[in-house]
Amino acid sequence: MVLADLGKRLTSAVSNLTHSNVVDEKAFDAMIKEICSALIESDVNVKLVANLRKSIKSAVNLKELGPGVNRKRLIQKTVFDELVKLVDPHNEPFKPKKGRTNVIMFVGLQGSGKTTSCTKLARYYQARGFKACLVCADTFRAGAFDQLKQNATKAKIPYYGSYTETDPVKVSRDGVEKFKKERFDIIIVDTSGRHQQEKELFAEMMQIQQAVKPDQTIMVLDASIGQAAEAQSKAFKESADFGAIIITKTDGHAAGGGAISAVAATRTPIVFIGTGEHMLDFERFAPQPFISKLLGMGDLGGLVEHVQSLKLDQKDTMKHIQEGIFTVRDLRDQLGNIMKMGPLSKMAGMIPGLSQMMGEVGDEEGTMKLKRMIYIMDSMTEKELDSDAKCFVDQPTRMTRVARGSGTSVREVEDVLTQHRMMAQMAKKVGKNMANLQKGGGLA
Ligand code: GDP
Repeated sequence: MVLADLGKRLTSAVSNLTHSNVVDEKAFDAMIKEICSALIESDVNVKLVANLRKSIKSAVNLKELGPGVNRKRLIQKTVFDELVKLVDPHNEPFKPKKGRTNVIMFVGLQGSGKTTSCTKLARYYQARGFKACLVCADTFRAGAFDQLKQNATKAKIPYYGSYTETDPVKVSRDGVEKFKKERFDIIIVDTSGRHQQEKELFAEMMQIQQAVKPDQTIMVLDASIGQAAEAQSKAFKESADFGAIIITKTDGHAAGGGAISAVAATRTPIVFIGTGEHMLDFERFAPQPFISKLLGMGDLGGLVEHVQSLKLDQKDTMKHIQEGIFTVRDLRDQLGNIMKMGPLSKMAGMIPGLSQMMGEVGDEEGTMKLKRMIYIMDSMTEKELDSDAKCFVDQPTRMTRVARGSGTSVREVEDVLTQHRMMAQMAKKVGKNMANLQKGGGLA
């Protein structure tokens, strides 16, 4: 099951329960059963699913709950927390520091998306003010250096490699030494990734590790690996002892749950996920926002981060969210930005409620919907835009005026205001945690 489908099934399992009139043992068990089978169909390790089932059951004891307890909220929170635990290894990932050299080495099987992810990561850091570069230590595969060179040139990232030297240890040592002298902040070493049965691959990885002494080793896992993820990641962990995982191709039709299970198998955090072939198809991963997004609850922190990386004008909204405020103008600016940010379907998940609201519509129809929302806000007065939208509740005729002015219906204006209300509530909560969210979970 693809991650998006998993998200839908988990969300509907929880909402079936929270929308039903009686929350009894039977309904609760049915929800747990549905959650577990969705996870298993997504290739999440069976043992992990069994543990999750046990934890949810023991955290919510319906028989012993007092009458004052909000059962639905408790169940919702427990499911959320347990899913977060599933992807949270409770291990902080490495954060590179400016003003010193940080060497990052990539390992993983051939075809997993190593070279692509190396360049994406270098670009990620470059966009955040780090001086980043790439070293190609894959002397085994013909064309590996060319591929890295091509990617690096496109992203304007300095690189090092050799067409003639056959010793990967020497190439990586030379490359890292050269870039250290040139005072690069981040040196990323791409290694070869032949089949895991080959003992030499692991021996080579360890030799390169000794030569370049990486501050961080990252293992790249293809999302489609399925149940083999556990064995493979353990094998790599034993020899290369990586400290972080990048999961690639999460945009594909792969289940993804197997790769997620690698976190628990190796107690190692996922730091980024690859969401496409393009350089920018790369998202920072943190357990809470990931689950929040999976369950259609949005990821405002991720959205703000993504917008920042694109260097779009975001100052006021950022300041507002930090203060727990969210005006109608903030919503307008956000939607305007989203339209500049590429495929809508990808961005919608980051905004609480928007993915549900957009329903099953495709990108084209979704873009049209967003445009109409923006027309609506463009028909508001400056005062209305800078308000918390209460004036529309006090004076509903304002909605009629805005609908007429924008050529839309009052119903659509109401939808925009509902969307705004949801985001304002979220901003209030996020406001407090904003500093943590931005720092937390990721590499930078
Ligand atoms: P390597 O052999 O591990 O270095 O793998 P490559 O970086 O050459 O990637 C193998 C293939 O996967 C290439 O065609 C990449 O474009 C593709 N790829 C890498 N990451 C992603 C991703 O996140 N999504 C998609 N759809 N394709 C990816």
